[in-house]
Amino acid sequence: MDVSQKLQIVAASARFDICGHDAARSMQLANRDPHRFIYRSTLPGGGCTSLFKVLQTNVCTNDCAYCVNQVGRDRPRAYFQPHELAGLFMELHRKRLVRGLFLSSGVAGSPSRTMQEMIDTVEILRQRHEFKGYVHLKMMPGAGYDCIEAACRVANRVSINMEAPTAHHLARLSSRKNLYDGIVERMRWANQVMSTHEGLVPSGQTTQFVVGAAGETDRDILRTTGALYREIGLRRVYFSAFQPMIDSPLEGRSPTPPMREHRLYQAEWLLRVYGFSSHELDLALSDKGDLSLAKDPKMMIARRQPWLFPVDVNQAGYEELLRVPGIGPISAGRIMEARTEHSISSLEQLRKMGVVAKRAGSFIWFRGASAHERQMCFLQEVDDEPGEAPSLAGVLR
Ligand code: SF4
Repeated sequence: MDVSQKLQIVAASARFDICGHDAARSMQLANRDPHRFIYRSTLPGGGCTSLFKVLQTNVCTNDCAYCVNQVGRDRPRAYFQPHELAGLFMELHRKRLVRGLFLSSGVAGSPSRTMQEMIDTVEILRQRHEFKGYVHLKMMPGAGYDCIEAACRVANRVSINMEAPTAHHLARLSSRKNLYDGIVERMRWANQVMSTHEGLVPSGQTTQFVVGAAGETDRDILRTTGALYREIGLRRVYFSAFQPMIDSPLEGRSPTPPMREHRLYQAEWLLRVYGFSSHELDLALSDKGDLSLAKDPKMMIARRQPWLFPVDVNQAGYEELLRVPGIGPISAGRIMEARTEHSISSLEQLRKMGVVAKRAGSFIWFRGASAHERQMCFLQEVDDEPGEAPSLAGVLR
């Protein structure tokens, strides 16, 4: 089998990992063209680039139920020697088709051996071809400490997919993966290496959940997400709405609505960027533990704490401002800065600072507001549809 035939085979298997700034869009593109291997991606430091998304091999001895590569499936398999894959990447790079590499793999027998092949590929790029660009390297569940450390030495970003938020849920998807020993421990090792050697893995460590494949609730996902940020210092957690793959054991299951993925990103943004507590996020959840598909989580949290509002925009602290729907970190910062020079007395002033007045109006107060503006503040109907929280493109940055 030549390199281009191998590429056709593994490209079709590589599409399930998120490497782009818009997971839903990436999946649409991949489904439309299963042999696609170049994806636009937002880099962690900002800006967009083209990544070569590929697997070292689609041979896998694991049995994740949602995955077309699971052991025992009758499908073409291919394996790249490290020098082959490095050569292929450099060819695409020289033609300016790709600027960086996103390298994952099936687990072909030994996790450590598979991961060593991936590391060898990147080392050839770094040393023989002097490639200094962006590399996102997946860590294999169950790989040894030496492999995790070596990956951290060559990659800009490392990640290992958790796929499900608890051991109980992961057990529904795979009989072979172990959440604590096989995955979370590897995350801790990577974090330890990064903490010990400053400057390694500049774009940090991430993980990914398949949303809706294991019957988990949004509460399960958000609690684990919060713990990963607090305890392991992950840079980002990504969510991928479950889509049943033809020829996988979950082929007949209903797909997860893309809006569920979107709501999870909104809630995750509140947790990571706004500094909301897990307890606050619970206010956005239904009795069953899920976010509303119809309502924005920040708006729901605000409405369930009426005693916090209205806040006086001339007196409120930064944290209080951040809890107002329609006010984000940038506009809260602008309000704080403006107040050092003058008081704020109109919705128009707030609009100019980036506040979405239509959403914030019911939750704020300022001295000097005209009778009309007071009425606007307290009587305004608020549209709950998306618009307040950052877009997917924004949150995936
Ligand atoms: S480890 Fe699981 S998700 Fe990854 S390739 Fe193997 S079967 Fe698929």
